[in-house]
Amino acid sequence: MAITLPELPYSTDALTPYLSPETFEYHYGKHHQTYVDNLNKLIAGTAEETASLDEIIMAAEGGKFNNAAQVWNHNLYWNSLTPNGGGAPTGAAADAIAESFGSYEAFREQFKAAAVGQFGSGWAWLVRDGSQLAIMATGNADLPMKHGKTALITCDVWEHAYYVDYRNRRPDYVDTFLDHLINWSAVENGLS
Ligand code: MN
Repeated sequence: MAITLPELPYSTDALTPYLSPETFEYHYGKHHQTYVDNLNKLIAGTAEETASLDEIIMAAEGGKFNNAAQVWNHNLYWNSLTPNGGGAPTGAAADAIAESFGSYEAFREQFKAAAVGQFGSGWAWLVRDGSQLAIMATGNADLPMKHGKTALITCDVWEHAYYVDYRNRRPDYVDTFLDHLINWSAVENGLS
């Protein structure tokens, strides 16, 4: 079973002006597609052709891990974004954020610090760790499932995620992610 590039859950101009169609052209159409293509080459003719992406990630190291994890991370990233997203959540997501972080403002401050402070390429995550929510940052392709945690949403902080629209201004990109793009429905769906 070949690994495939999932359809985006919205059109490539749906997140304008926060993320441009050009960003989607490169980030989704080139970077994400290349991780998919590379992984399919690496598993072709092996027993992993019939494995799930999660199974490949948990067993792999080196280049196969990097490409498999980057496919998975980008799958989650696109679903972590939504038109008219961001800002403080409501409902069950709001309750979970308040319970784990004390307040939405505390969550926002900690998530921004993790995303901006990740040196070099990587990811910032909101994860479920037992009954609590927590924030993580990982380098390169590393991801929460390797650390026994369940990822709910992620912010890609590789330069390719923001350089077209924000140049070197990672903090502005992270502010935009938090204030305009977070898909709180994805958080709510991952709570149980
Ligand atoms: Mn990326």
